[in-house]
Amino acid sequence: MKKINVVGGGIGGLAVAIRMAVKGYKVKLFESNDYVGGKMSQINMQGYRFDTGPSLFTQPHLIEELILLCNKNPEEYFKYHKLKESCRYFFEDHTRIVGYSDSNLFAKELSKKTNIESKKIQNHLKKSAYLYNTTKSLFLEKSLHKFRTYTNLKSLIAICKLPSLDLFTSMSKRNKKRFKNPKVEQIFNRYATYNGSNPFKAPAILNLIPHLEINQGAYFPENGMRSIANLLERLCLEMGVHIHTNSKVKQIAFDHNKVKGIHTKDEFYESDIVICNQDVYFVYENLLNEKKIAKKIQKQERSTSAIIFYWGIKK
Ligand SMILES: Cc1cc2nc3c(=O)[nH]c(=O)nc-3n(C[C@H](O)[C@H](O)[C@H](O)COP(=O)(O)OP(=O)(O)OC[C@H]3O[C@@H](n4cnc5c(N)ncnc54)[C@H](O)[C@@H]3O)c2cc1C
Repeated sequence: MKKINVVGGGIGGLAVAIRMAVKGYKVKLFESNDYVGGKMSQINMQGYRFDTGPSLFTQPHLIEELILLCNKNPEEYFKYHKLKESCRYFFEDHTRIVGYSDSNLFAKELSKKTNIESKKIQNHLKKSAYLYNTTKSLFLEKSLHKFRTYTNLKSLIAICKLPSLDLFTSMSKRNKKRFKNPKVEQIFNRYATYNGSNPFKAPAILNLIPHLEINQGAYFPENGMRSIANLLERLCLEMGVHIHTNSKVKQIAFDHNKVKGIHTKDEFYESDIVICNQDVYFVYENLLNEKKIAKKIQKQERSTSAIIFYWGIKK
């Protein structure tokens, strides 16, 4: 049985460990923290529980897919419900807008609060669905680094539709032209920040993002976002993945350009394959000792950051 070592126990590392175990590999997962889940963590303080990291949960079918891959019943393993609203917008002039997680309700609400025709908002959300459905097989479901991604029918269709995918104008320009209303523009531009992009620079194809939250809807797992990490950990254990917490990987070992395992502080763990779910810069810098490539990555422009407050409120 071939062996795989996975570096990093965030939700990405846990998910890939499950997939590899299902394929029959002998999987070990190494996590430097004393818990798995990575950014999907939580803080318990004075009777309050806060999800840190992700708070918006879309596309629950992707979690169910993992459960089904393990031949388990999703209903027994994971409970969640659809949210009526995913967020609220507060503007300085006291305008309050409810971010309904339903395209008709949201279009109505936004139209009522900003005097933009509901039809215009609905058309924007339809375009969002079009962008998503046209590109998902190319950009989201396949590796961009493999030649065969570009040679299947769905990808070829997406490539033929390139001119309609809003690649050559910025998100903010497109939304300004479409709405000519600062509040509506601001609301739709903020979706660029979901992948760290700047709406004034990012291509308008990123207008596909609101499709997930507003058309498909936002959800919430029973017991909070952290329960997704707990679920993935459970699936890993049930599929025989060995999870090593408090185990920081120091280096990936090679023998004549062929990977042979990983080194932690104290031990060497042999494997045929190593999968890294650590931030890529550190993989090149520390694990592969490829300082030149790391330097190149470091020169790339940083994504936007955010400041987040967790407030416990007694009402
Ligand atoms: C504030 C914030 C809000 C977000 N909101 C949302 C949201 O609402 N919805 C959404 O879908 N997404 C959201 N995201 C994005 C989402 O949280 C991440 O995409 C996701 O959690 C990343 O998971 P990951 O497994 O790829 O990486 P990580 O969670 O970063 O996991 C990497 C793991 O690798 C471990 N590691 C690193 N180096 C080593 C090493 N050398 N050896 C061993 N272990 C190592 C780390 O300790 C960590 O546990 C948000 C992110 C942040 C930060």
